[in-house]
Amino acid sequence: MPGIYIHIPFCKSKCTYCDFVSFPNRLNFAEAYMACLYKEAEMRGEELKKETFDTVYIGGGTPSVIDPKYIYGLMKQITARFRLSRDPEVTIEMNPGTVDAEKLALYRRAGINRYSVGLQTANDAQLSRLGRIHTRADFVECARLLKGENFSADVMLGLVGQTEKDVEESIRLAAECGASHISMYALTPEDGTPIYTDYLNGELPDGDEVARLYDFGRGILKELGFLRYEVSNFTKPGFGSRHNLNYWKRGEYIGLGVSASSFFCGRRFTNTFNLDEYMKCILSGHLPVIESEEVSGEDAKFEFLMLALRTVFGISEKEYRKNFGSDWREDFREAYEKTKGYLEEEGDTTRIKDEFLYVQNQILTEYMK
Ligand code: SF4
Repeated sequence: MPGIYIHIPFCKSKCTYCDFVSFPNRLNFAEAYMACLYKEAEMRGEELKKETFDTVYIGGGTPSVIDPKYIYGLMKQITARFRLSRDPEVTIEMNPGTVDAEKLALYRRAGINRYSVGLQTANDAQLSRLGRIHTRADFVECARLLKGENFSADVMLGLVGQTEKDVEESIRLAAECGASHISMYALTPEDGTPIYTDYLNGELPDGDEVARLYDFGRGILKELGFLRYEVSNFTKPGFGSRHNLNYWKRGEYIGLGVSASSFFCGRRFTNTFNLDEYMKCILSGHLPVIESEEVSGEDAKFEFLMLALRTVFGISEKEYRKNFGSDWREDFREAYEKTKGYLEEEGDTTRIKDEFLYVQNQILTEYMK
């Protein structure tokens, strides 16, 4: 079943590594922006009224930075304009420095049942260097307020001076505070961000060191009962993200808000990245799409394979045949022969061997040729 992604682009300040579409200091636009989001939901909902959606993901930016009444209003609008499944997964991203009990109470009333909390690291000096607005203590307090809820914590690898001890403390803190899911991913120094200077100065750990920290972190996560189901995602049994699983199965989704992209009926389309242009378009009654392309043929096959091989579930021969009417090994014969040593097969499924999943990007480059 398809999902809905909603982008809230406001933040208190810009983190030093961030190249997401987020606008610090434009919080005064929140009310006008949310009115546009409600309108876009109405327009899209009208087009898609026959569909049933299984997940809603409110991401950003920092959705938790705006007044919670807007999130409540947003979910009212989503449930009025889209048909949701009987038990939808509804996630909101939160910065631990922006949460209080009142906000969470309204989120619950809005139907939110999953929280994604950006811990990043338990080390306050590293948090400050990343430009995060929160501390370790803020995370602990946020987790206390979330007691009994289904929440995920982000842990970042590849920070300046990061040691195994730092990684272990971050993971253990998230687990002890009750996270049911942990996303452990490597910092990507993007050109144009302040942290890129640290990268150019050689201050960030290199790829081999990050891979070593990842392996170390994976060991701790395993010991704590978190199962890896995608290269960067680990979960306690039964708490995997349905929204993300739909992406990795190349399922359909609709994106609302500035910069949000959608994939429906074989087409991928993306909204403008410009906040003013987004609002202008919606206010004049137009959808703010700037790019739209049909993804078919070889591109669609590669996409299916690439997404499936990111996960521990791998690629199902039957599913591939159902989608494309052919055998994936035949379609990618040369790459398959070259990468066979990294793969393992079980019944109808082929997956990347556990020890090579972290380097799946390198393996997949063979399939791009
Ligand atoms: S909180 Fe997230 S979106 Fe906002 S500036 Fe930091 S990394 Fe970017």
